[in-house]
Amino acid sequence: MNISKILSGWKNYLAKAEVPETLAKQRAAHCAACPHAKHGKLLAFIKDNLTQVEGAYCNLCKCPLSAKVRSTDVCPINKWQ
Ligand code: SF4
Repeated sequence: MNISKILSGWKNYLAKAEVPETLAKQRAAHCAACPHAKHGKLLAFIKDNLTQVEGAYCNLCKCPLSAKVRSTDVCPINKWQ
């Protein structure tokens, strides 16, 4: 996990500017179908219009998916870039 990229993702999540929402939506669809996407109790309070990844994190990199799909990070198993 690259902390700076994930922080950038959270910034994008809050601002919803740098990564196009259409791209984030495509990534979220991949994550929603992925067995490595898990739901975290600590993320349950974070609402997201991308409901497929709301409250979820990637079990491989431990990144919150609401932030990850909006960051310049990549999927650890190359399901999306
Ligand atoms: S980032 Fe990749 S490995 Fe992680 S949940 Fe999404 S699709 Fe799965």
